[in-house]
Amino acid sequence: MSVLIKGGRVVTAADDYVGDVFVDGERISLLGEDLDVTADTTIDASGKLVLPGLVDPHTHLDMPFGGTTTIDDVQSGQTAAAFGGTTCHVDFCIQPQGSTFAAALDEWRSKASGKQVIDMGYHIAITDLSDPERLEELATLPEQGVTSYKLFMAYKGALQVDDETLFRSMEVAAASGALVMVHAENGDAIDVLVKQALAAGHTAPHYHALTRPPETEGEATNRAIQLARVAGCPLYVVHVSCKESVEPIALAREKGWDVWGETCTQYFFVDQTFLERPNFEGAKYVYTPPPRAKANQDVLWNAVRTDVLSAISTDHCSFLWDGQKTLGRDDFSKIPNGGPGLENRLHMIHHFGVGEGRITLNRMVELLSTNPAKLFGLYPRKGTIAPGSDADLVIFDPTRRKTITAAGQHSKTDYNLYEGTEVTGDVDTVLIRGTVVVGDGELKVEPGFGEFVARAKFGEELRPAVARA
Ligand SMILES: [Zn+2]
Repeated sequence: MSVLIKGGRVVTAADDYVGDVFVDGERISLLGEDLDVTADTTIDASGKLVLPGLVDPHTHLDMPFGGTTTIDDVQSGQTAAAFGGTTCHVDFCIQPQGSTFAAALDEWRSKASGKQVIDMGYHIAITDLSDPERLEELATLPEQGVTSYKLFMAYKGALQVDDETLFRSMEVAAASGALVMVHAENGDAIDVLVKQALAAGHTAPHYHALTRPPETEGEATNRAIQLARVAGCPLYVVHVSCKESVEPIALAREKGWDVWGETCTQYFFVDQTFLERPNFEGAKYVYTPPPRAKANQDVLWNAVRTDVLSAISTDHCSFLWDGQKTLGRDDFSKIPNGGPGLENRLHMIHHFGVGEGRITLNRMVELLSTNPAKLFGLYPRKGTIAPGSDADLVIFDPTRRKTITAAGQHSKTDYNLYEGTEVTGDVDTVLIRGTVVVGDGELKVEPGFGEFVARAKFGEELRPAVARA
């Protein structure tokens, strides 16, 4: 099968031109002006943008958490992703305490089996290194295409690791070629603040933010940066939400250290006051780190513009408001932490980032696709439009208007963080490895189409395994 995408405005992290993209089989074969080729299918992209498929490096699908399980499994979550122009994501495989990493990966792969709509990889989330054999096993994971280790410095009594576990993982990563990712919050201090708030009878959702002050994020971010420096490993700080954690990342990057930071769509748009919405609506915005004071939103825009922060993910971790978030109606600490977002990252960043002049189109592509692909060992198979790259392409209509609503979304949750927001620009057609996955407003592939991608080690390129004839 071959596809010719004609006359679109092709935008990558570096380029911006009107031209044709010729796809032969699963890969991009030729780029140019008025290509003289015949194709099985021709798509007219005039007036539209042709972007590399977006990569979301931070999602949680079918994950047990907070006494329940996220409402989106691989099928519904990836369908939502596809409609939002995301063609590949890296999900978190969480090691249950006492389990081997191999058993955890088997379990997560079996949960995805037959349900995949887009391509995906896994980060391993380390919770328990008490058995010395785990350290040896951890060192072997990059060879299997699992090239990033995630550690939680918060969620005491659940996912949180101590500094010894964090530091040992960093040492292994330095030797094995993995990138270390941290959820940076001081979980011990937060645990004290939560207990004190509850003892004082403070049970409402907005205490979620008041018990996780931004300094606890700043402290943990700086601690992780300094420890990574000692261990000699590269570090990626996930979901940076505030000035207190932007600053240590900016300082580390100024010094040229191997430190990167990510923020998520919601931190640009949802502020701390959303948690005060009446009738328990505030629970919709209980995710971690919490929505912050509004002044942080400009700090984050500035950070993504100046490459202090290098990626925007969704941290999609969806729960129903009615039936799951309500588990914490009488106790904010029992509200499952997480929010939906996989479907609307491009809509929101395109409209408010590019449309309102905060970042360029090239920078948007870099933040949503190219940088995540490079940092997580997917580039140049993913994250760009170039001969030899996977034909993962988003044809985006920059003039089509869309109102974001829960009623119109593909996620199974019953609310949307951006409910009622009107944006200009919508996804028209999505191809993954040369196959139309979304078109005419419909999903065009059967579940099972998506593939697991074995990622390259940190700093290495992912090349197609078989050279083209
Ligand atoms: Zn997360």
